[in-house]
Amino acid sequence: MSQKIYPVCVIGGGSAGTMAALRTVLNNDECLFFPGSPKDKKKSRAFWVRKVENVPAHLSYKRGIEDPNAETIKWIMESEFKEKLAIKKNLGIISIKKNQDGTFELTDSKGHLHFAKYVILCTGVMDTQPHIQGSIAAVYDYANAQTIDYCLICDGHHTYKKNVTVIGHGNSAAWVAIILHERYELASLNILTNGEKAQFQDETCKLLKLYNIGINEEKILEIKGEEKGKILTEFILEKSVLKTDICFISLGMIVYNELAKELGAALDERGFVVADETGLTSITGLYVAGDLKANTRKQIYTAWDHAVSSANAINQKIRNEKRQLLLDRIQK
Ligand SMILES: Cc1cc2nc3c(=O)[nH]c(=O)nc-3n(C[C@H](O)[C@H](O)[C@H](O)COP(=O)(O)OP(=O)(O)OC[C@H]3O[C@@H](n4cnc5c(N)ncnc54)[C@H](O)[C@@H]3O)c2cc1C
Repeated sequence: MSQKIYPVCVIGGGSAGTMAALRTVLNNDECLFFPGSPKDKKKSRAFWVRKVENVPAHLSYKRGIEDPNAETIKWIMESEFKEKLAIKKNLGIISIKKNQDGTFELTDSKGHLHFAKYVILCTGVMDTQPHIQGSIAAVYDYANAQTIDYCLICDGHHTYKKNVTVIGHGNSAAWVAIILHERYELASLNILTNGEKAQFQDETCKLLKLYNIGINEEKILEIKGEEKGKILTEFILEKSVLKTDICFISLGMIVYNELAKELGAALDERGFVVADETGLTSITGLYVAGDLKANTRKQIYTAWDHAVSSANAINQKIRNEKRQLLLDRIQK
């Protein structure tokens, strides 16, 4: 028995994937939707985001990405478009290949095969965590309570007039510190490299000196605070103690590009997937949306915009094909 070929398959159920699924069904295209296995979900940014303050109408959500996304899928499944969405709950895609007829063949995390003509890849990224005494567990409570933050655009305002620490050793960590200093009238600001050699460019070092931003290369031994991370008080270092109210981690990102790599899609030097303005990658029929896409702001609303561009570009191709068939028939 031949398997059904879906017109569109969306891989990933975070900000980009949910918007891609919504726009696809609202365009009246059938969508096969893989939000990810429990393991995929746990390692996604969507899972770790709590309060979203920089996106209008999001303040009431306890989980700023997962709650509105669940509401959206529920709405689709209660709407007249429910037949258009085939949700594969708790399933991820572990392998993808392109067949000779141009369709994508996808293997899910239970080993089942699926087929689709177009794919929108929305598997996202994850922020790299610092290792403290050989483990990343020390940051969990603080990250959950957002006394440790990661995204300057989302949460930079949390530092207003506070004692701030930035953890990182690359030039981008230094720039996070510089921008925080210039924006938020900080009480104090230090960069902790956690035992790494600082790799700041000369121009950046000039600014760090001008702004009196401290650089400490000692290893972090412990993070101290109260109320399950709601209050952050200090970093215990090898030879000193650093008082702090809030911390930013800037150690780069782990890019979930395995499926794009498997297909041979072009990546940039950091591993993000290269695509045009519609999200079309170097592989025909493969689109990318959200944090995984190269050269874009890594935000909820940008992920939404990418997803809409990709779903609409695919819909245009589907309509063009149908229109051409009709025109050909008339001419015969
Ligand atoms: C702590 C934190 C706070 C943030 N706060 C804000 C904020 O306030 N405002 C803002 O605009 N942005 C914020 N961001 C950024 C925001 O989270 C991302 O920009 C957004 O989630 C990107 O969406 P995405 O769909 O690309 O990835 P994600 O939302 O991370 O979703 C990735 C999805 O892919 C799935 N997946 C992964 N692998 C597979 C696979 N093989 N098969 C199937 N599914 C798979 C996962 O299950 C997940 O559903 C924050 C990020 C962090 C880390």
